[in-house]
Amino acid sequence: MHTPLCKHAVGEPEEYVRRAIERGIGEIGFSDHSPMPADYDPNCRMTLEQFPEYIQKVVDVRRALPSYPIKLGLEADFHPGMEDFVYNIINEYDFDYVIGSVHYIGDWGFDNPANIRRYRHADLYDVYRQYFHLVVQAVESGLFDVLGHPDLIKKFGFRPQQSYEDLILRTLQAVKKAKMALDVNTSGLRRACREIYPSRRFLELARELDVPVTLGSDAHDPQHVGQDFDSAVELLRSVGYTQVMRFTRRRAEAVPL
Ligand SMILES: [Zn+2]
Ligand SMILES: [Zn+2]
Repeated sequence: MHTPLCKHAVGEPEEYVRRAIERGIGEIGFSDHSPMPADYDPNCRMTLEQFPEYIQKVVDVRRALPSYPIKLGLEADFHPGMEDFVYNIINEYDFDYVIGSVHYIGDWGFDNPANIRRYRHADLYDVYRQYFHLVVQAVESGLFDVLGHPDLIKKFGFRPQQSYEDLILRTLQAVKKAKMALDVNTSGLRRACREIYPSRRFLELARELDVPVTLGSDAHDPQHVGQDFDSAVELLRSVGYTQVMRFTRRRAEAVPL
């Protein structure tokens, strides 16, 4: 779940929580976009000065609805050279879980609709190769618990002609070694790719390697909370998953699907 502090989400945390309760979801977690060094993507995240305000928002909603489990998380970016900054941010508070996400290839914010043109002139396999190379680095950094929207690079529906299963396998092996979980994220269904992150094939291979998963809607609006969870659960069951992970103070616990 996000908050308005990231400048591209609407609704206060309490509205998200009320929506989750309405939908019969047993637990919610906030993981807004983390602060990053000042010149990195400032329009899509809180500032460093707002970081305590974010924590306070989650603390406040926990107080307002004390009987409902509300987790404090963070979606941190992985960007080479910024690992120390991210390490310090993550360790400043007692987070339940930290999602690691790649949103940039070099200076290209590839998931921003304003930058879509670059796909049209690119060798798409090479773009995917660069993306997954960064994802593996993110996983190997040891900073995160969950790999966010693992195949985000498909967001606008640009897919290479040739198979990129080699890149998926390399990623999954790293995730397994790092004992992380994959974020099964329904927001992809709201994008041009019209597909959950990650794809069915990705999840089939993940299941074979026994890589655990979490379930999320990456909500930027209270209406998104738990959106398409039925499809996600169906997809997970169909590839053989019987459980998802939950995190408390950065320790994972399996919950039956
Ligand atoms: Zn966002
Ligand atoms: Zn993200």
